[in-house]
Amino acid sequence: MNLRSDWPLGWQLGLGLVLLAGVCAIATSVYLYQVRQHLGSNYTAIVADVIRPQLHTVLLRSTLEELREHPQDSELIERFDNLIWRIPQHIEGVHFGLNKTGLAPADYEASLNRLELVSERLPKLRQALGEIAAGAPPDDLIQQGYAIENEMAQAYSRLSHLLHAEAANQRVVMDRLVLGIALLILVILLLVGCLMLLLKRLHHQHKKVLRLSLMDELTGLGNRRYMLNFTELLFEQSQRSDHPLSMALLDLDHFKRVNDDFGHPAGDQVLKVVADALLREVRKADVVARLGGEEFCVLMPETDTESALEVIERIRQRVESLSPQAFGVPVAVTVSLGLATVTRDDASFDHLYFRADQALYQAKIKGRNRVAVDGPMVQAPATP
Ligand code: GH3
Ligand code: MG
Ligand code: MG
Repeated sequence: MNLRSDWPLGWQLGLGLVLLAGVCAIATSVYLYQVRQHLGSNYTAIVADVIRPQLHTVLLRSTLEELREHPQDSELIERFDNLIWRIPQHIEGVHFGLNKTGLAPADYEASLNRLELVSERLPKLRQALGEIAAGAPPDDLIQQGYAIENEMAQAYSRLSHLLHAEAANQRVVMDRLVLGIALLILVILLLVGCLMLLLKRLHHQHKKVLRLSLMDELTGLGNRRYMLNFTELLFEQSQRSDHPLSMALLDLDHFKRVNDDFGHPAGDQVLKVVADALLREVRKADVVARLGGEEFCVLMPETDTESALEVIERIRQRVESLSPQAFGVPVAVTVSLGLATVTRDDASFDHLYFRADQALYQAKIKGRNRVAVDGPMVQAPATP
């Protein structure tokens, strides 16, 4: 087990940003599309309401021309009557449509007043039409008709200009809105991106601090706190599953002399070489830590006493076999190791630690450069 474990936060944040950007873009596009459709159709409808009655002015003029020629033509009279009947209804429609727009009433009031006048004059026009049907000359009807046609043409022409100008304004407003929203989204995404970078940085800093707090600076191994992170879990697992857990304590022999004879930096170098040798003999699943001074610890999960003994004997031999040059000091360096494997009698990890320390003590008093075991030779349960 090592201290390096990279959580790909950068990738996750990047993916989050891309997803967020995608959702923002889709949501905004849908919204803008709907807004554009809505505004566009509003004006399309009202422009149509105004343009359609404009045809009445043309119809009115052409029918008047025909009536001048054939004042007694009953079909013409009927058509004209029908036209007179339709004009107020369309004026009503325009009135209603204009009220629904966001236009200021002052902009179209004059035109509407003109159309109101037209409506008021229509009964007289109808009366004149009745007189023609009864045989009167068409002069009065034609005079009134042209006056009404003139009023209508002017009113509709003004309204038409007003609405086209307003529709053009709306398009400009829409384009600005689209630009504004796009810029806003860009700014938000940039901010979110910066925030994510900041978070990533913080996360890395946090990981770095955490790693430093668990690492022994001199050897690069875990420190006592690092080891304690595992002990409870491993000890509990071992107790629960009946799988063996072995613990070895390693201490350099007569290390004080190295320091005294060759100086502290030389002693540090020896500690590093021993740490490397230790790492070479353990498995990945083993927890290796420098507990302090010249004392190291190896926690070996799923390892019975016999296997653990082999491991620590290999460690001892490896250190013993290293030449003085490898350590950078002109003396041989050896280590003593004490081993203990969890038994049912170990009430806590501290007890296991205590027994491993006892074994180390035994190795020391028996002459150093050796391994010793405390407690029974615990065997792994037989696999079915
Ligand atoms: P023994 O065989 O009984 O273990 O004898 P020893 O001399 O190794 O043990 P002792 O406890 O008397 O001395 C341990 C020495 O380890 C004392 C101290 O100066 C040295 N030491 C502790 N930490 C460091 C360190 O970080 N660097 C160096 N260079 N020396 C250290
Ligand atoms: Mg020592
Ligand atoms: Mg010591």
